[in-house]
Amino acid sequence: MTDYVEPGSVILYRTYFGSTLMTVSPVRVVRHDDDGLLTWTASGTPRWLRADPAGRALRDVPRAQWPAEFTEGAWFGAGVLVLSRPGVDHSVWWFSDDTGGFAGWYVNLERNVLWTDGDTVGIDAVDQELDGWVTPDRTWHWKDEESFADKTGDPAFWSADEAAAVRAEGERVRALATAGAAPFDGTWCDFRPDPSWALPARPSGGLDRPPALPLTGC
Ligand code: MG
Repeated sequence: MTDYVEPGSVILYRTYFGSTLMTVSPVRVVRHDDDGLLTWTASGTPRWLRADPAGRALRDVPRAQWPAEFTEGAWFGAGVLVLSRPGVDHSVWWFSDDTGGFAGWYVNLERNVLWTDGDTVGIDAVDQELDGWVTPDRTWHWKDEESFADKTGDPAFWSADEAAAVRAEGERVRALATAGAAPFDGTWCDFRPDPSWALPARPSGGLDRPPALPLTGC
């Protein structure tokens, strides 16, 4: 049982894909309670990531050619609010446009876990590639279906049974989203970050830490 994290705290947000740590980002805790952990990734947040030297998305690069080293990067575009909830295999992202207006919800299908180690708190998320994009009028669009199918059966990613479970999770969220049920009920769509929050520093650790959840298997 993890204690609730104080609003305003900076925690590590780490994402895995294909059994590989892909990004480590410092994110700001907005709220943490029984409904989940809400975090803010500010525009320009310095982060670590694996990046293809040729600029291709790694989903389109054979896994054997993924870079061994991390690159210094930054979160591009507007800041984003992310809700990670215990017991569900997805997170919900509130995207805004360049003027700060709400642009839509991104549903990232993933397994995730919150961890603490001394004074360090983080979320580890294992990305499952298939996603949903929900426009403000609550229309659902699947994303990355082709890449998701391509990786099904690869032991570094997911089995056919796991893929079916991922798709089923997406269908559950789609029903919530199209019905306008929480968290797609308009909550947080007008969120603005606390102006006193400074941009977090690039994490000095977190790249070598072992994953806090299994990288394959549901
Ligand atoms: Mg995804």
